[in-house]
Amino acid sequence: MKKFLLLTIVIFSGLSLAAQFKTSIKMDDYPLEKRTIVNIPDILGYRVLKCDFHMHTPNSDGNVTAQTRVQEAWEEGLDAISITDHISHHKGRKDENQAYDLASKDAVKKGIILVKGGEITFGLNPGPGHANALFLQDVNKLQSDDWRESFNEAKKQGAFIFWNHPGWAVDTIRWYKEHTKLLNGGMLHGIEVFNEFEYYPEAAKWCIDKNLTFIGNTDVHSAIDRLYDFSKIKHRPMTLVLSKGKTEAGLKEALFAGRTLIYAYNMVIGKEEYVKALVNASLDHVSRTLDTNTTLFTFSNISDIDFTLNRVSGSNLPQTIVIPGRSSVDVIIKNENLQPTEYEVQNTYIKGYDHLKIPLFQ
Ligand SMILES: [Zn+2]
Ligand SMILES: [Zn+2]
Repeated sequence: MKKFLLLTIVIFSGLSLAAQFKTSIKMDDYPLEKRTIVNIPDILGYRVLKCDFHMHTPNSDGNVTAQTRVQEAWEEGLDAISITDHISHHKGRKDENQAYDLASKDAVKKGIILVKGGEITFGLNPGPGHANALFLQDVNKLQSDDWRESFNEAKKQGAFIFWNHPGWAVDTIRWYKEHTKLLNGGMLHGIEVFNEFEYYPEAAKWCIDKNLTFIGNTDVHSAIDRLYDFSKIKHRPMTLVLSKGKTEAGLKEALFAGRTLIYAYNMVIGKEEYVKALVNASLDHVSRTLDTNTTLFTFSNISDIDFTLNRVSGSNLPQTIVIPGRSSVDVIIKNENLQPTEYEVQNTYIKGYDHLKIPLFQ
């Protein structure tokens, strides 16, 4: 009887629904705004800011709005970005400040430092290729068909200038006379050693030899999650800036002082002292005697970076120790095998091609 009643109710309610006109049937609600945290420890008393200083919008050849660039950066846990559209060679052709103006309100709302910048875009050899100028006041003033004028104007505005993707679309990466001219004229402060998917080890060596700042960016033109597969990498490539605080002034001071690292595709790239500081701040280990013959070592990692340590000296010790991000691993060692040993941190690059070496088991 109960069943019969239930069936009747279902049939009747079905009929009454069919008779009703519905404008829409809501399948879901707007999701809560979710922000990924980039877990990288602060080092050497500085705040480590996560930054991307190279991206495009429809104001040049990008197809994602300036406001969405801010939203993407916020969702991915970045602290600072610069929208750097290609600057026209023709005065007045377009408003080069437009992307910044469109995004600035959203950036304030989301707590993202938005640095006003642009991409000075010329051919390479002859010419200096592409370069980004950051901390500009008026990007329009850089419009010129003469690269010397654009760079001079950027310098006049106190810009931090870096050479973009020096190994992109060339057979051999090379330093040209134009870059010597820019460097000597105080118009070249850094190099984009990592761009999109590419690392340029020769450019990393130039940064060390000429005391230039290491920069790593996405140069994203489409939506960020169409450029990168975030099921394969945790975060977009970025520049880590060792800043005195989360302010635009702090960022600028740190960039001119060369206090940066590149974090891209799980690699940490930069000057040895900063790479070493980041590895030391991320990894820790404790040991405990298990019995008279063995010792247990627990390696822990507080960062998102997966560390791989590879033995380069000693013997009868593990050849490879992998310490995944935000994890710890236990390694049991026979006491008779314990000896001072050197390991290479394989997911680091210092001096171009070399990996940072660290001592273990001593
Ligand atoms: Zn470019
Ligand atoms: Zn670009």
